[in-house]
Amino acid sequence: MPLDTPDTAPDATSCDVLIIGGGPAGATAATLLAEKGRHVVLLEKDHHPRFHIGESLLPLNLRIFETLGVADRMAAIGVHKPGARFVSDEHGKHTAFSFAAGLNQDYTYAYQVRRSEFDEVLFSRAREAGADMRQGMRVLDVTLDARAGHRVTARGEDGTLHGFRPRFVIDASGRDTVLAATMGSKARNPHNNTGALYGHFRGVAPFGEAEDGNITIHLFDEGWFWMIPLPDDVMSIGVVSNPGFFKRRRGEARDFFLDTLRAVPSVARRIEGAELVSDVTTTGNYSYASKVMHGDGWLMAGDAYAFIDPVFSSGVLLAMASAEMGADVADTWLDDPARAAPMARAFERKVKRAIGSLSWLIYRINTPVLRDMFMNPSNRFRMREGLVSLLAGDVHVNANRQMPVLAFKAAYHLLSLAHRFGYRLRPDGLVKVAA
Ligand SMILES: Cc1cc2nc3c(=O)[nH]c(=O)nc-3n(C[C@H](O)[C@H](O)[C@H](O)COP(=O)(O)OP(=O)(O)OC[C@H]3O[C@@H](n4cnc5c(N)ncnc54)[C@H](O)[C@@H]3O)c2cc1C
Repeated sequence: MPLDTPDTAPDATSCDVLIIGGGPAGATAATLLAEKGRHVVLLEKDHHPRFHIGESLLPLNLRIFETLGVADRMAAIGVHKPGARFVSDEHGKHTAFSFAAGLNQDYTYAYQVRRSEFDEVLFSRAREAGADMRQGMRVLDVTLDARAGHRVTARGEDGTLHGFRPRFVIDASGRDTVLAATMGSKARNPHNNTGALYGHFRGVAPFGEAEDGNITIHLFDEGWFWMIPLPDDVMSIGVVSNPGFFKRRRGEARDFFLDTLRAVPSVARRIEGAELVSDVTTTGNYSYASKVMHGDGWLMAGDAYAFIDPVFSSGVLLAMASAEMGADVADTWLDDPARAAPMARAFERKVKRAIGSLSWLIYRINTPVLRDMFMNPSNRFRMREGLVSLLAGDVHVNANRQMPVLAFKAAYHLLSLAHRFGYRLRPDGLVKVAA
């Protein structure tokens, strides 16, 4: 690119691994690689603490917190999350799925967090581990060439350009998808074309008598709302729907958001006395994946590779888990690229499999059949436990634990067939409904 190419200048900084982005994926990879004695430089364009969406975590995050040595710090900033509750005004019902009722009894709860605090804990942890963590540094250009040496150019806030000569590059730039954008490898997900509108409120009524820490998903005809309880009586609320829904917006996002909340009875009841205490943010068309995930001396982790949908709160877990595996690949590659090649392929398979398992549910969340199943959950063949495990992010389960998940999917397909003939699942079984 037509810059001063400081990446080729003699004073360009050399390092083992350069990580683009200091969110959960970047900070996780930085900590693990620095702990292995690697010289890591991480470049973050922003400064922590800063707002980020993605506040509801999953039980399997706890294992990674232990690995990183931040379990106590997360317990101090998080709201205890025992599970997820789904509410449907159409069914006049709600169902709570407790993580403690899942197949994995090692991790039975999670946290809801302010991402400003959460990301800062992870970022500081990487610095403690010895990574060179630089903020206010935006990566502008990356030239990948493992043989001649990768070249990275970043710009500091004073406009100065900085050059880097890393042996390995990890792209953890989130939705900015620095490498995928450079390579033109980013593709929109044809199966999930949704967007979101969200903000923070104070004084939102709990779903039951008192706030129990669950995330609540309120289903409505055109999508769903999240309600995530955060510290200090703050509730994160967002609506997720299709482009047709968002096109109906006239005027300010704030007014459209509040009108949408007031139009769904179970949501309206909860926000009656509440006050909006943040800006309202919109995010559109957010499902995508890169056509490639790794190559010689580089890989993508977290949202820099793919993002599906927030409905099952899986983004941060997928980001940290892929960064953990990616750090292993990078560490091995630095010693022996040939040995790293099969590891990189296994990394890709695992990430794709995790995304695939969750996508199955995500693509169906707005179908009447899946909604009927969520509202009338059965534990026949341990299906409910299997579903809870998926909701907990336990996507790499062994064959034994796969059976309940397979049973759940089979039941879905049978019920879809019955639905074509006018039958719906109700508390007392299949019922023929009027056309
Ligand atoms: C509407 C919505 C709701 C969501 N809700 C949830 C939820 O409840 N639970 C959940 O787990 N997930 C949720 N997610 C997903 C979650 O936000 C992401 O999956 C998660 O933050 C990914 O982490 P990451 O580290 O890959 O990327 P990020 O957290 O996005 O971090 C990327 C970092 O890279 C930096 N960066 C970007 N470009 C550059 C550059 N050129 N140079 C230097 N730095 C750069 C950014 O500033 C950022 O700090 C939600 C997403 C959306 C859109």
